[in-house]
Amino acid sequence: MIIELNGIYGGLRFSAAHIVFGHESCGVIHGHSYYIDVKVSGEQTGQFDFVCDFKVIKNIVKELANEMDHKLLFPKYHPEVKYEIKDDYLFIEYNHNGTLKKYMFPCCDVLMLPLKSTTAEEMSEYFGEHIKNGLDNLGLLDSIEWIETTVNEGIGQGARSNILVK
Ligand SMILES: [Zn+2]
Repeated sequence: MIIELNGIYGGLRFSAAHIVFGHESCGVIHGHSYYIDVKVSGEQTGQFDFVCDFKVIKNIVKELANEMDHKLLFPKYHPEVKYEIKDDYLFIEYNHNGTLKKYMFPCCDVLMLPLKSTTAEEMSEYFGEHIKNGLDNLGLLDSIEWIETTVNEGIGQGARSNILVK
């Protein structure tokens, strides 16, 4: 059985800024109204014969979405972007189309992510792992087969990843 959560109707949304370092047009700071769709496949178990309670998955997704909301999402493992944190400010330097660019942000406005880029592709895998770990921490992973997570950058475009649990 597969259960589905629609990010728009289910309230799994957040707004954030990012920079796709190295990309010609997306290598400039810009933002998206993101929403997250989730599908979970597994056996129906427990008192209610649920694959998983919708509320449980919503809470796990919202935990991360709330952390990202109204922040600059910064990938700390990008191979070509230099950064430094000093006096609660993040300083970024990188070469964009032959021009050296420098950004400076207060750390309270930034969420540092253990990613090499903040593309929808990378973020869908990150959300998927977060959901898997969240279910595991609650002891709810045993009956789950796979978790499919789509990170949409606004309406009409997104990246979907699938994590096989079994
Ligand atoms: Zn973007």
